Amino acid sequence: MQLDGLGDLRRSHPCDSLRPEHVGREVVVAGWIHTRRDHGGVIFVDLRDASGLVQVVFRPDVDPASHARAHHLRSEFVVLVRGVVEQRAPDTVNPGLPTGEVEVSVRELRLLNTATPPPFPIEGETDAEEAVRLRHRIHDLRRPPLQRALRLRDRLTRSVRGTLGGLGFVDIETPVLAKATPEGARDFLVPSRMHPGQFYALPQSPQLLKQLLVIGGFERYYQIAHCFRDEDLRADRQFEFTQIDLEMAFVGVDDVLQVLEELTVRAWADVLGVQLPRPFRRLAYREAMDRYGIDRPDTRIQLELVELTDVFAGSGFRAFRSAVDDGGIVKCLPIHGADALSRGDVDRLEAFARKELGARGLAWVRVSADGTWQSPIVKFFSEDEHARIAERTGARPGSLLLFQADQPHRANHVLARLRTDLGHRLGRLEDRPWDVLFVVDFPLFETGDDDRLTYLHMPFVAPVEEDLSLLEGAPERVRGTHYDLVANGVELGSGSLRNHRSDVQRRILEILGYSKAEMEQRFGFLLNALDAGAPPHGGFAFGYDRLVLLMAGGESLRDVIAFPKTQRGQDLLLEAPGEVDEEQLAELGLRRRPGRGA
Ligand code: ASP
Repeated sequence: MQLDGLGDLRRSHPCDSLRPEHVGREVVVAGWIHTRRDHGGVIFVDLRDASGLVQVVFRPDVDPASHARAHHLRSEFVVLVRGVVEQRAPDTVNPGLPTGEVEVSVRELRLLNTATPPPFPIEGETDAEEAVRLRHRIHDLRRPPLQRALRLRDRLTRSVRGTLGGLGFVDIETPVLAKATPEGARDFLVPSRMHPGQFYALPQSPQLLKQLLVIGGFERYYQIAHCFRDEDLRADRQFEFTQIDLEMAFVGVDDVLQVLEELTVRAWADVLGVQLPRPFRRLAYREAMDRYGIDRPDTRIQLELVELTDVFAGSGFRAFRSAVDDGGIVKCLPIHGADALSRGDVDRLEAFARKELGARGLAWVRVSADGTWQSPIVKFFSEDEHARIAERTGARPGSLLLFQADQPHRANHVLARLRTDLGHRLGRLEDRPWDVLFVVDFPLFETGDDDRLTYLHMPFVAPVEEDLSLLEGAPERVRGTHYDLVANGVELGSGSLRNHRSDVQRRILEILGYSKAEMEQRFGFLLNALDAGAPPHGGFAFGYDRLVLLMAGGESLRDVIAFPKTQRGQDLLLEAPGEVDEEQLAELGLRRRPGRGA
């Protein structure tokens, strides 16, 4: 079909704005053909623009020329129409549409562009595979889920900027071509043309730069920052992601948490119209691990873990005792009133725990109606052990007890996951939509697999001041100033106070195994900055995409990012990563190794 000239493209109204009060008015609307229905004589089109939909009608008796051409309109063609708003007959009113009481009777049709057929329907649900939706992202962007998510994201951005701007935070950009720093992930490297053999690293976060900014006299910094980590991708992880990154001078933990609470409460109010209860609860890391087995618990789930390590120290039950002898723990997840879980379900839980969670097994006890304990392992329990387990777990007829005897991280990991899954499956959630809390009082170090101390969060976290003296003799006992914000079992972000004294920072790097030379080479610029009059400071970073996902609802971060990468790190729309030619490589001083790439 022949395209029309563009002419005047000004519209009188967004599609979604037309109402009975506009009846009789001439309007100009433009957008995409959402659907077209040919009812013998009359042709109905749902016209879609960014605001929504309105029905436009082509009648042969009103404007024969546009009616004749409307036969050839197809999905996603781009048109502008001039017409008159009319009331729909009562039996044709569409109560599901804000504009459903009216329609636009067309007087002039201007075809601005045709379109290839969409690979999947824009309206309604689609069962198109995600790869197809990613390859045809333009069409997917036109569909309601991404329209909603990206608009929610924008509302959140404005809320955050409003709050932080109002609190005196200054938005400052930091470079993307930066230097490798240890945030625990693999860096993306960018070869330097001007300095052959040298590389920039894309920032895993602006951590050190924001510290430098605060030392540089910007007492309150923030940025909605792009970060890059070359990690294996999962539903809740992307190579590049966004943080709401902030840092403040002259603050203690309480001051930072207050800002985070304010920002979060305002965001929920602005974006979702929800008033979160204040103040946010604070849960100590130790308590979170003991009761829930995880440092980001959803505390609405009314199931809790029970510690049994001391019961089995020296026990005759070899399987449990040897775990304790090896420095492990014994913990139990009791589920009362668990009749809904059949023997087959328990077998499936065990298979899941082994295959997916790395458990060695899943011991269980079921308490039958007459109070007897049924289990392959109950015969190994002494009378005293039996009594103590019963007392601690509150076991009663109908209870199912699930046990882990293993190294703490694995035992906790397995039980935490089972607690979450079974809590949801059995409907054991408290009736409140949001569970927002701070987790505090983390240790500064943890013991790594090789028995050496490693940092729990990152190397720049300040110790709790009273514990400074322990850095010399007993670093494993030093508490950190780290805190996390958790909502509904999702970690929304982390932060801490930072080392503002270079002697403390040096000592921590030393404990982490850096030699003096390495320290200078990698962190010399930071250590010099700390010596240049660094104020006490601390901050936080929200994982922005995760925050949007939590608010918007959805399965994966790909549902809230305009142009995400697949699990295999590819952008299917841009076809990135892609080949580059030899000349470009030569300019960068790079050569392909045989057998690697084309
Ligand atoms: N830079 C830290 C991170 O990316 C957050 C912070 O402590 O502010 O995890």
